[in-house]
Order: sequence, then structure tokens, then C-alpha cells
Amino acid sequence: MDESNSSPLSDFIRDIIDEDMKTGKHQGRVATRFPPEPNGYPHIGHAKSVCLNFGIAAQYGGTCNLRLDDTDPSGESMEYVESIIRDVKWLGFDWQDRLYYASDYYDKLHRFAVQLIRMGKAYVCDLGVDEIREYRGTLTQPGRESPWRNRSVEENLSLFERMRAGEFDEGTRVLRAKIDMNSPNVTMRDPIMYRIKKVNHYRTGDSWCIYPMYDFAHCLSDSLEGITHSICTLEFENNRPLYDWFLEALNVIPRPQQIEFARLNLSFTVLSKRKLIELVGKGVVGGWDDPQMPTLSGMRRRGYTPEAIRDFCERIGVSKNDSLIDMALLENCVREDLNEKAPRVMAVLRPLRVVIDNYPEGRVEQFDCPYHPKNTEMGSRIVPFSRVLYIEQDDFMENPPKKFYRLAPGREVRLRYGYYIKCVGVAKNPDTGEVLEVRCTYDPETQSGFAPDGRKVDATIHWVSAAHSLPAEVRLYDRLFRVADPLGGGADFTEYLNPQSLEVLGTCRVEPSLAEAMPENRFQFERLGYFIVDQVDSRRGNRVFNRTVTLRDSWAKIAEKGAKR
Ligand code: ATP
Ligand code: MG
Repeated sequence: MDESNSSPLSDFIRDIIDEDMKTGKHQGRVATRFPPEPNGYPHIGHAKSVCLNFGIAAQYGGTCNLRLDDTDPSGESMEYVESIIRDVKWLGFDWQDRLYYASDYYDKLHRFAVQLIRMGKAYVCDLGVDEIREYRGTLTQPGRESPWRNRSVEENLSLFERMRAGEFDEGTRVLRAKIDMNSPNVTMRDPIMYRIKKVNHYRTGDSWCIYPMYDFAHCLSDSLEGITHSICTLEFENNRPLYDWFLEALNVIPRPQQIEFARLNLSFTVLSKRKLIELVGKGVVGGWDDPQMPTLSGMRRRGYTPEAIRDFCERIGVSKNDSLIDMALLENCVREDLNEKAPRVMAVLRPLRVVIDNYPEGRVEQFDCPYHPKNTEMGSRIVPFSRVLYIEQDDFMENPPKKFYRLAPGREVRLRYGYYIKCVGVAKNPDTGEVLEVRCTYDPETQSGFAPDGRKVDATIHWVSAAHSLPAEVRLYDRLFRVADPLGGGADFTEYLNPQSLEVLGTCRVEPSLAEAMPENRFQFERLGYFIVDQVDSRRGNRVFNRTVTLRDSWAKIAEKGAKR
């Protein structure tokens, strides 16, 4: 990836690594991994972890593995694996030949477990799930030892073998590490290493009916891959002593070091796979790649760029403190990136017919319009102009209030790249009073955008030529939730969904140059925002555009107005 012209990042994790490099702790090696469980599509929170792990590897000349952490067969699938592979690649990162699966380590992990039994450091426990919880105690109360804790090594070996052979029912027996039921850290009170699950695994099929727990599998998978710095989120802080305990007890080399950072929380959305699965399952959204979703596939379809997402991840940085990041920050990163990259074109979302009375019928002019105001390398396109145009309905008002500067009876405005036009009348539906058509005259002297007599207009509006424009569907997106923190509101998070999060406009008109637009092409529709051709629903002759983001932060404006009131 191109890391040029960005200065090296610095944060508390990189400080730790700098120190390790100085002291030669891992022989100067840096090896990280991104370890998603394939039980959902990756979201923007995962992007933070991806950028961190791959970014650190790149910065220190190390490596970063992609590891599918698939130790819990329920809910995992190949579809999710594929989404992870696709999205991490799309973000711009490369694991070369280091794509690994925790399920490939099942044999090795099983051998490690047997080794711990032999050492007297693991035992088969016959307590049920509820009893185990009860025996574990609480933060303020010590735990109690399981009556099965002192079984002989032989008995444990035999029972564990029979667990593996499928002789026992789910929930009847587990393998536990023998640590300390009095530990102040509840995680260390004889944690479960293996449980029986008679569930088909998407990769190993029915070869196994016992599956390792995360805490046991993760540290050993890290060690097997030669990971030096095992970066994870804060909720694993209490698990770090256990991570170290397994590595020490088994005396494995190398000894990776777990470092925790605060996960990303983003306002007006949820970043939890379980919650996202619920939205998909209930049909609240159209799927994992719905442009309203905070998933990477949703953001991609919405038109976000990998560059903008990486920029966002750099700007938020990493820390040890939980916080809620404002969605507006992400949107601004997207805006800044697209401002450089997106060609400008004109589209009318809610068309209103304009007839220019003094423009000859049948005449067509071809205006040569640049694609970008600054970047001349983007070239230009031809925009036809003729007697009948479409403008936005809300760029015209029959009885405008004082501060309305756009088109109204008797008012003159500039057409973008075109003439001054003046409204001389309206045609209305006699029954409803609805304005069907605006009648205008144009000033042929103003094609340069200025009047030779120096008279000024207050507004420039966009337009398309009615006969030359193409039909299109446009989808406008708003926040998925009405409140900044849908999980903190007391009620079920789905209560806070924004009923207006999607508006579909089916009668839009776009300029003819967009006949060439291909799925995933991005544009700025002048005055309206950035848009992308939808990769799923666009068909030849029926283009669907998703609004990626508005041109300005309309939410900030609303907040300002609110403050003034
Ligand atoms: P979820 O809460 O969405 O189920 P998870 O942590 O269970 O997420 P994993 O597949 O285990 O999902 O995550 C893979 C990696 O991404 C882990 O290292 C995890 O710490 C990290 N990660 C997950 N969510 C976030 C987040 N919101 N911010 C930063 N990192 C995250
Ligand atoms: Mg997890």
C-alpha cells in the first residue's frame, strides 16, 4: 500500500513496539494478525482493527496474517469468510500467503489440551452450565472448587477421549483448566477449555464434536503463527492473565504479547455483529450490503472509498478509553476524498419543466463543461441545452418568502454553465393548483455566465435538457437511527430506527453523459452531493444512484439552528 507522504503514526501501542524493538524483546520482529470470527460481515469497527494490525506491520517492516478465528461452529459460514477476504482486500491490505484458519489447528490444540491434562493442569468436570456459573462465585465472592477437580490424570485422559469420541451429550461435561478458584480475577477460576457441541462445522464437518474456547485457542493460535503482538479490544483485558497462563503452562515459544485498545463506537449506528444480524434477519435492511449498514460491503455500495475509511481510522487513532465517535467525522473523510476524485455532473432529482419561450424550437447547443473545477486532467463533457429543461422543484417558488433567492415569477437566475433565465409565467393544473411548468425567457448575451450590462443574479441553479436527459432512480440515505447511541437509550435498539433513513426517488433525470456510467462509478451531482452507480440494482437503461454523502454536513447545520433557537 502507498504509505508515502504520511508521517509514521504514533500511539500507545506503537510506543510499546518501539520499546520492544529497543530491548530486542521479540528479536526485533513484528508480527500481527487480524483475527475475525466468520459469523458476520465485517463492519467499520473491524476496519479500525484491520488498519491498526496491517498498518503496524507495514510501519515496522513486519507481517500481518489474516486468521479466520473459527472455533465456534454455530453461526460461522463460508459466506462470511468470503466477505471478510473481499472486504480486507478492498480496504487495500495484503496478507500475501498468510491466510489461516483456527480450525486448521484443531489437532494441535487438542494435543495441547492432552498435554495440560498430563501435567495435572486440566480436568474433566461434570458440573452443568448453571452449576459451573454458581461455583464460579462473583467479583466479591470467591469461587468453590468443583467436586471433579481432583480426578486422576488417567481418568481425565479417558473422559476427555470419550468426550471427543462423542459418547456424552452436550452440556454434560467440559474440560477445564485447573488454576485458582480463589483468584480475584474471575476469568482465572478454572476456565473452560473445551465444550461438547454436536454441531457441523463449515470447514471440519463432523470430524469434531468438542470445540476449544476462545481463550484457549487464541493464544495458542497466535503462538503457532509466531505472532509477536496480539492486538485486541479492551473487553479482553481480564483475559490477558489467562492468555499468558496457557502459554507459560505449555511453555510454548514464541510468547506473543496481548495488547488491548478501545473498540470503535460510531454514533447513529450499531457495531455489533449480533445486532447487525438482527437487522438483516428481520428485514429492516435489504441485506449485509445494504448501503445503510455500517458494514464495509454496505459502505462500499454506498460509495465510501477505502482511502476515506483508512483516513478515518488514522484520524481517530487508538487509545485505552472508550468513546463514541461522531459519524460526521467519517462522512467528512468521505467528502474530502470524493471532492478530489469525483467528476461533476448535473442531475435533477425532482424535475420541474421549464420552457424557454424565446429559445427557438428544435435548436440545440452543446456546452463543453469541465468535469472538475480544479483538476483539468479530468477533462470535460458535452452538455446539451435546448428549449425545454428540467430544474429542481424546490429551486422554484410561486410565492417566495423574503430570503428565497432562486427562481420565482419576475426573478432571474443563472443556469449552471448557461444563460440567465427569467421567469415570466407558470402553467398550473386548474384543479389542484399544482405548478406544472414554468415559462421563462433567456438572455442570449449571457452564455458566458455574466451579463454584459453587469447586472447580477442571486443564484445559480442546475438543470438538464428535457429531451436529452436520461431517466434514473436515486436513493437518498439518512442516519439509520434517530439517536446517537441506540444501545444506550433503555429500550430495544430497534425502537430507535429512523423511519426516514431511505428515500427512493424514481423520476429523476440525469445529463446524457451518464449514459456511459458503469456500476461503482462515482460522481458529484452539482449542489446535491456525491453519488455512486449502485452495483446491484443498476441495469442497462435503468441506472440507480446511491447518495454517498451530501456536500455539506447538513446535520451540523441543524444542530446550529437548534442552538440559536
Ligand atoms: P462484534 O462485537 O461485532 O461481534 P467481535 O469482536 O466479536 O465483534 P471479531 O470477529 O471477533 O468480532 O473481531 C475481529 C477483530 O476485530 C477482533 O480483534 C476485535 O477485537 C476487532 N473488533 C471488533 N469490533 C471492533 C470495533 N468496534 N472496534 C475495533 N476493533 C473491533
Ligand atoms: Mg470476538
